[in-house]
Amino acid sequence: MRDSVKLSAGRSYLAIPGPSVIPDQVLQAMHRASPNIYAGELVDLTATLPADLRKLARTAHHVAIYIANGHGAWEAALSNTLMAGDKVLVPASGRFAHGWGEMAEALGVEVEVLDFGLHAPFDMARVAERLRADSGHQIKAVLGVQTDTSTSIRNDISALRAAMTEADHPALLMVDCIASLGCDRFEMDAWGVDVMVTGCQKGLMVPAGLSFVFFNDKAAEARARLPRVSRYWDWGPRANPEIFYQYFGGTAPTHHLYGLRAALDLLHAEGVEQVWARHAQLARAIWAACEVWSEGGALAMNVTEPGLRSHAVTALRLPSPRATDLRMWLEQNLGLTLGIGLGMAPPESAEWHGFFRLGHMGHVNGHMIMGLLGGIETGLKALDIPHGRGALEAASTVLSGQP
Ligand SMILES: *Cc1c(COP(=O)(O)O)cnc(C)c1O
Repeated sequence: MRDSVKLSAGRSYLAIPGPSVIPDQVLQAMHRASPNIYAGELVDLTATLPADLRKLARTAHHVAIYIANGHGAWEAALSNTLMAGDKVLVPASGRFAHGWGEMAEALGVEVEVLDFGLHAPFDMARVAERLRADSGHQIKAVLGVQTDTSTSIRNDISALRAAMTEADHPALLMVDCIASLGCDRFEMDAWGVDVMVTGCQKGLMVPAGLSFVFFNDKAAEARARLPRVSRYWDWGPRANPEIFYQYFGGTAPTHHLYGLRAALDLLHAEGVEQVWARHAQLARAIWAACEVWSEGGALAMNVTEPGLRSHAVTALRLPSPRATDLRMWLEQNLGLTLGIGLGMAPPESAEWHGFFRLGHMGHVNGHMIMGLLGGIETGLKALDIPHGRGALEAASTVLSGQP
C-alpha cells in the first residue's frame, strides 16, 4: 500500500445491515422540543400510524407497537402466543433463526431447530415431513426468518406456509421481517402469515428503538387461550388502546413517532411496489459488481443462487484477514463503513476476519450504491486484493437499464 491522502472528511456512509441510513426528512421530523403526550399533535399523529404500518405489511389485521429493538419484538411475539412447555419448530438458514429460537427457549418453550446451514434456504419438503410426523400437533408455532441478515439468504415465506398446509398442520406461522420489511416483497395476509415482527431501524429508516408485532385473529385466539401474558408485552391494549397511554404501556416514544411518521410518508409516497423494485435493481447492481470482482479469486458472495439472495443485505467473504483490512481501510480513508461478518465464524477466531456484509436497505439510491461499489473497488486496489476488472461497468449497466 502506498502513502495516500486521507479522503474520509465529508458525509460518511454507514453501509451496514442496520441501523440503516436515516433520511433527512426523518431527522428533521425528530428535531423538535418535547411534545405534549396527553393531547394534541402527537396523539393525532399516533392514531395515523397503524393504518400505514398495515399497508406496508400487506395486512388488514392488528399491529402492536413496542419501545424496543427487534429482540423485544421477538419476545413480544413469543409471549403472546406460547407458554412454557409448548413446542416450536425453527427452520434455520443463519444466526438470527437460532437467536429467535434461543429466546423461545429462555421462556421455557421447547425448541426444535431444523438447521439448513449457512448457505441454503429452508428445505420445505423437510419442514412438511417434520410437521406431518407431528400427528399429535405438539408443535404450536413455526418461527421463520424471511431474510437472515447473517447469511443474506432470503426464504420463501409463501412456500413455508404451503408446506404447513400440505402437512395439514394447525401451528401458527410466525415470521421475522426485521431485515426485509420495506425492502423485499412481503405479503402478510396473502401468504398466510399469522404473526410478523419487525423493527424500525432497517427498511423503516428510523433510529433503533421501535418495533412492531403484527398479528391476525388466529394468533389473537392463541393469545386468549394463555393463562397469562406479562402486562408490558401484552399486545391486546397496544393494538386496541382505549386510552392513549395504552399504545405504549407508558410514556410514548415521542420523537420516534415523528420520525416514523416521516418514514412512512416517504415509503408510501414512493409506493411499496416501487420501493421493492428499487431494492431489487440496486441489489442486482451490487451482485453484478461482486461477480466481476470474484473473478480475481479472492472475493465470493455467500449465496450463489441469485433467487435466494436478499435485496437488503449481501454477505461476502475474502481470505482472512482481508475482509477486516478492507473494512478498516474504507472507514479510515473514504468515510465508508461496511458491516462485519455475523454468525459465519466464531468472533475470536482468525476466520472471523474473512467475512463482511453490505447493507443496502432503506434510504439508498443509485448514486449511493455506485459510491459504495466505487469505494470497495478503491479499497481492493489500495490493499492489492486480487479482483476482476470492470465491476463498476457491470453495475452501471444494470442501473442504466441497458441489456
Ligand atoms: C437486526 C435483526 C434482528 C435483531 O434486531 P435488533 O433490533 O438488533 O434487536 C433480528 N432478526 C433479523 C433478521 C435482523 O436483521
